[in-house]
Amino acid sequence: MKISGYELNFSEQELDDILANKMRNIELIGADFSGYQQLPDGDKETLKHLLNAAIIINDVALEQDNPLNRKLKDGLIRTAMESSYAKKALELFNSLNGVAGFNGIDKEPIQIFKDVELLQGKNFYPKDLSVKEFHDILQQMLTNGKIDEVKNILSARTMVRRNEDELIGIDYTVYFAKEFFKIATELEKASQTCSNDIFKSYLMWQVQALLHTDEKLDMMADKFWAEMQDTNLEFTISRENYEDEMTGTIFDNLKLLSALQQHNIEVVSKDTLGCRVGIVNKTGTEFILESQKTLPYLATWMPFNDKYEQSINKNDVKQTMVDADLMTLTGDYAMCRGGITTAQNLPNNDKLSIKTGGGRRNVYHRQVRMSSDKRREKELLNALVEPKLHQYFDTNAIHTWVIGHENGHSLGPLSEYQNAMGIYKHIIEEHKADIISVASMQVLCEKFNLFEKDYLKTIYTSWCISLFLKAKPVFSAPHRMAELIQFNYMLENKGMYFDENKKLNINFDKISSVMYDLLKETINLQLSKSVEKAKSFVDRWAYWSENSAYIADVQQKLGNKPYIKIVTKF
Ligand SMILES: [Zn+2]
Repeated sequence: MKISGYELNFSEQELDDILANKMRNIELIGADFSGYQQLPDGDKETLKHLLNAAIIINDVALEQDNPLNRKLKDGLIRTAMESSYAKKALELFNSLNGVAGFNGIDKEPIQIFKDVELLQGKNFYPKDLSVKEFHDILQQMLTNGKIDEVKNILSARTMVRRNEDELIGIDYTVYFAKEFFKIATELEKASQTCSNDIFKSYLMWQVQALLHTDEKLDMMADKFWAEMQDTNLEFTISRENYEDEMTGTIFDNLKLLSALQQHNIEVVSKDTLGCRVGIVNKTGTEFILESQKTLPYLATWMPFNDKYEQSINKNDVKQTMVDADLMTLTGDYAMCRGGITTAQNLPNNDKLSIKTGGGRRNVYHRQVRMSSDKRREKELLNALVEPKLHQYFDTNAIHTWVIGHENGHSLGPLSEYQNAMGIYKHIIEEHKADIISVASMQVLCEKFNLFEKDYLKTIYTSWCISLFLKAKPVFSAPHRMAELIQFNYMLENKGMYFDENKKLNINFDKISSVMYDLLKETINLQLSKSVEKAKSFVDRWAYWSENSAYIADVQQKLGNKPYIKIVTKF
């Protein structure tokens, strides 16, 4: 079947199999949710407009991701009215939220259409731009003194297009002027009825940031957004730069990199936009805030903490945190390509608000973390874990660990060190946050009484099992790569082992110190600012062993559901 001139890459039977056996649902809240019903009418009105904005933001993200996304989505929607085949293809499209993407299991990306591929530079860069040509053009432009033009091309907020034999960076506020105007209009309406003043101020600044090309307006919006702690509502326009695999190639070209540094030009990957709308869950938020109080102490507990400036000030931790009940996830959040995020701490370090002393806001996704498959979990334990440990497995414990991971991003060397890891920076930074979390659990328990001593075993066990990968991770999946590193490190250093029945056993007494050693090595790595060292570290630890292959094989037999359908009810 052809959609807008492009042949589908899956037969209808193959799509049937994916939808019936390989896709799991994440159900978001509906109008019957008590937290929603208790809201004042003004807030409910606000939410209506925020949900409208979320839909438009999705269009922006689709355009950023692939030049054919919007055309082919429209084609699928039209054809789906009379064809069940197209309707099924549309469901797969909505799961990836795009024409192509990795599913976290298969080595090659999933392509919904023949000849429509995942692009290295997404739609941020011209489709036919090779890495070499990209670097050559930048070098030439620098030679010609076009410093500001190059700055624009390497900014996180521009779409790059050809301009005769050069390139030009077009600011999002210009490239997406039509969409941003519509989003701003919805946010303006939303601000008129909402019950909370900070939330209202945030929305007004966000409106300005969408309408004008001025990073300072984004900075203001980000600062207000990051201060929101006691609001009823949750609304985020996320900007994250994991998708763009073109900009980062500059870190491999040392000649170009040093030329850029001479002109003080920062190399930042492109932001993909996402949108989240929800309601703040008060009980969940209280528990998270308890963990926040441990950050100043943890800053002093970090290895080599005298060798770098801490991103958190000991007396004034500018970090808000909420647990949210979700109404919708769109854009980047809804690109479920091998997973979906359970929590997110923004803004990232490259943003002006962070550079000028603004805070961060961390939002946890309740509906995402609560959607686990109990039957499959039991089968996995039976197949791979020593029976005595089964009692300690608990998905809630993973939530405690995730809180530690998110806090971990607020600790350690600042962004200039993180970015110096080049194409390894996401792997190393996610890995750092992971092990800060595990290594600090004993401290949180013994010094802060955040939980009972016995619960440590539950956290450790659940975390070790979370390192069981379903497939050999691709380089562009930093969280999975990090898990592989930790899995191998734990085995080589006897934090855990597999017995003669190939069942997991854990040396509970060793985990804390093994992980603190790994944390030392990791912080040292960031402090070295050496891409070479980052490469050898990743090469050394992210290997695919027989153990990993065996685990992946068992997971395969139990059946994997790599695709996600986000079920929205508004
Ligand atoms: Zn993270």
